[in-house]
Amino acid sequence: MGTAVLEERKQSIITRDFACSGEGFGCERASVAGSVSQRACVYCGARVVLNPITDAFHIVHGPIGCASYTWDIRGSLSSGSDLYRNSFSTDLREKDIIFGGAEKLARAIDEIVQEKDARLIFVYATCIVGVIGDDIEAVCRDAEEKYHIRVIPVKAPGFSGTKSQGYKLACEAMMQLIRPHYKEQEKPQGVNILGDFNLAGEMWIIKNYFHKIGVPVVSTFTGDASYDSLIRAPQAALNIVQCAGSSVYLAKCMEEEFGIPYFKVSFFGVEDTTNSLLRVAHAIGRPEVICRAEQFTAVEKMKAEHFLAQYRPHLAGRRAAIYVGGGFKAISLIRQFAEMGIRTVVVGTQTGSKDDYEVIRHLTEDDTVILDDTNPAELERFMREMRADILVGGVKERPLAYKLGIAFCDHNHERKHALGGYEGVVNFTQEINLSLNSPVWKYLRGA
Ligand code: SF4
Repeated sequence: MGTAVLEERKQSIITRDFACSGEGFGCERASVAGSVSQRACVYCGARVVLNPITDAFHIVHGPIGCASYTWDIRGSLSSGSDLYRNSFSTDLREKDIIFGGAEKLARAIDEIVQEKDARLIFVYATCIVGVIGDDIEAVCRDAEEKYHIRVIPVKAPGFSGTKSQGYKLACEAMMQLIRPHYKEQEKPQGVNILGDFNLAGEMWIIKNYFHKIGVPVVSTFTGDASYDSLIRAPQAALNIVQCAGSSVYLAKCMEEEFGIPYFKVSFFGVEDTTNSLLRVAHAIGRPEVICRAEQFTAVEKMKAEHFLAQYRPHLAGRRAAIYVGGGFKAISLIRQFAEMGIRTVVVGTQTGSKDDYEVIRHLTEDDTVILDDTNPAELERFMREMRADILVGGVKERPLAYKLGIAFCDHNHERKHALGGYEGVVNFTQEINLSLNSPVWKYLRGA
């Protein structure tokens, strides 16, 4: 397979020469040490899911470095409170590590409650706390009793698993928050949207569609969410899950405990957005909702297809590489590129499941390179070999693309333009066109 691929990584890569599928494909496992994985840690996985709750306080119980992971690198938007843009840390030092940091944590909670009038606090235990064993559950329990607010522990030492473990911990924290508000006798209505973080206002776009077709949105997890909106979630009739990697576990818990059914949706691309809206309308089952959904999607689909037809001649035949966090997004992007006439030649995810990779294999051609938990060296090699014209990824992939003279589109949490819904089709297509057809590449590639 060449020098850029470590022997231990081969099982997580599918190429024309080396194909390993189904049970044999290496995904949903710890990163290979020394492979320069681009995954974040367990704590980061938990934080990314919980941080968009706009009126929650997040105390990072650990050294100050862990607290650098804040709203600034995850730009979810809020229509209300902006408390979530702050980050709090117990700033553990050498003495705290030796004598224990639980008291310091209790003081930090006291300070936040007294000075900031907090109603909901998440407390994250990071790596060193996992080692010294501070009982953060006891500290949180005491604080809840003392102040009659919610103080929820998230035991997320970075070393305790993969980023996916952090997603699961965040889902468990949200269950702790909403469980006491489940009332069996209430008649369910409307939907909860899970796994959308309101990046560049995407949650507002999707909520607006549901408003137009007559489907009430009860709660959103966690884009533009608040304490009051989240605790209404058990009343919903249906959960729809956009980012399945981060939120399907929450949907499963809610199905088991509250009887709320769920299915996965995607609002990236014309086909996925249309199918998702129609599926929700049929699941709600009211004839007027189905009728409105059919009318709305027919009009929007026609407009989007007319728009795409204008751009397709400029994009058709080009070759894309995709490296994103979760499988659902990679699958949507492959379909979206196909709508634009672009072929996906390299595709990978940080946390995709075996099922995701099976779908990816069916959607792509035999020679498409598929990678789990890849690194810059592998990406460089396969993008060169497969002659990719554009890379879609996150902030960590951007410099690699530019250094190789390959066009780039940011589809991660730092994005500033909405890429979801029909509006997202317009923004995404324009961005891909601008980047792919920029005259700058011919100078760089010639260098
Ligand atoms: S790996 Fe550990 S020390 Fe590093 S950010 Fe994650 S929790 Fe903090």
